[in-house]
Amino acid sequence: MLSKSQFLKYIQCYKYLWLYKFRRDLLPEETDESLQRIFDEGYEVEDYARKLFPKGVKAEGLYETAKKNTDKLIKDGNKVIFQATAMANSLYAMADIFVKNGDKWDIYEVKSSTQVKDIHVIDLSFQKICFESAGYKIGKTHLVVINTSYVRKGKIDPKELLKIEDISSDVRNLISEIKLNIESALKLIKSPKEPQIRILKQCSSPYECPFIDYCWKDVPDHSIYSIACGLSEKKLNELLDQDILEIKDIPEDFLTRDRALMHRHVVKHNKVHIEPDKIKEDLNNLKYPLYFLDYETFSPAIPLFDGYKPYQRIVFQFSLHVQEQPGGKLNHYEFLAKDFKDPTEDLLKALRKFISKKGTAISWNAMFEKGCNSEMAKRAPQYASFLKSVNDSMYDLMLIFRKGYYVHKNFHGSASIKKVLPVLIPKLSYKNLNIQEGGTASDSWKTLIDPDIDKKEKDKLYKDMTDYCGLDTMAMVEILKFLQKI
Ligand code: SF4
Repeated sequence: MLSKSQFLKYIQCYKYLWLYKFRRDLLPEETDESLQRIFDEGYEVEDYARKLFPKGVKAEGLYETAKKNTDKLIKDGNKVIFQATAMANSLYAMADIFVKNGDKWDIYEVKSSTQVKDIHVIDLSFQKICFESAGYKIGKTHLVVINTSYVRKGKIDPKELLKIEDISSDVRNLISEIKLNIESALKLIKSPKEPQIRILKQCSSPYECPFIDYCWKDVPDHSIYSIACGLSEKKLNELLDQDILEIKDIPEDFLTRDRALMHRHVVKHNKVHIEPDKIKEDLNNLKYPLYFLDYETFSPAIPLFDGYKPYQRIVFQFSLHVQEQPGGKLNHYEFLAKDFKDPTEDLLKALRKFISKKGTAISWNAMFEKGCNSEMAKRAPQYASFLKSVNDSMYDLMLIFRKGYYVHKNFHGSASIKKVLPVLIPKLSYKNLNIQEGGTASDSWKTLIDPDIDKKEKDKLYKDMTDYCGLDTMAMVEILKFLQKI
């Protein structure tokens, strides 16, 4: 059988479907934590969507069982079925919400997305084809998505949180194309021969493919895929047509952007590019005391607290290293919200104690911290002038690297602190930490504030999270010191 989720894999990349059918042994053993959070969030949104249809009943089970239960619920006269299932002509689909409308059935697909995307139209087209093959008359096809203008006030109101988009005409326009694709996908899963495909953007779009480790095993370290600024699919194809896979082999006149040209230069000549005068000029703007500041945030689809919109960031943690004068002692301050309540006021109260109006706040990718400050100022206006002064003094240390004043081939075309730190300050490493990247730190917060978590686990998580955020600011301290020596 070809299920809907398998067909969507085929649409992303036909090899993805083939590997999924024939080489599941290559899949990672554990589900990625952030992926799991996306799934959990999806289930939560679906629960709210079901509340829009209070008379709905669920067809329990999977495959044959779910199909039989669907048939029975329909026979019993139910007009709204959750997880209605159809199997026909080697196709298998489950509709999130299946609603009787006259002599037809309407399909509602629930997504925790904020807008209709091409992949959603493909998803519903597949469902319509499958249900029609099974003998149902399908009327309208809808997408239930998150309404971004909703602001939580008290209990979540599903009618406000969600909006329903009728995408019937988009689906109608796509049906014949999807039928052709289904035929090809069904042929593919009968073939024992592994298909070949060029590695292009499909590996991470629209979703990260779990077979990357397998397919990318022969991609060299400094490959055309990682050149600074990236290359369009057309340009990647042009290089692959000439069997060019390494940055060093890209013809110079092929690249137009300065950062990409510089990246090619440092890889080809195995040299580090440094512009000391520009670095010095930039760093001359810093005024002591220096406040190395980093926030961690959590952005749930369903707002946790009043005043928040869907996906709006909750700033729940900061790490702050303060240096009063050049070469002076370093003080570290931190805050991490432990309880299930909006942390904005407590966090700002703590932060204001340590940052005065004099000096410079330093962040990495400061647009992020500035944006958080502007949002917090709206929620806590009594801190607005403090947050404005922090933003006015903010210096973005990442820009030294983004502007190409210091380029090392092992940054791999990136200006991320995770790429820069191990090259410049190898003794400081995220590798020794239990939490090694922002996504995990963010996901951990929901667990930390869960009132049911046991104390031992909470204390451990608290330590892991403060270690991670603390290293982010310590990394900036050390990188600045390194640059000042230049
Ligand atoms: S890693 Fe890329 S090429 Fe390989 S199966 Fe996934 S999407 Fe296809």
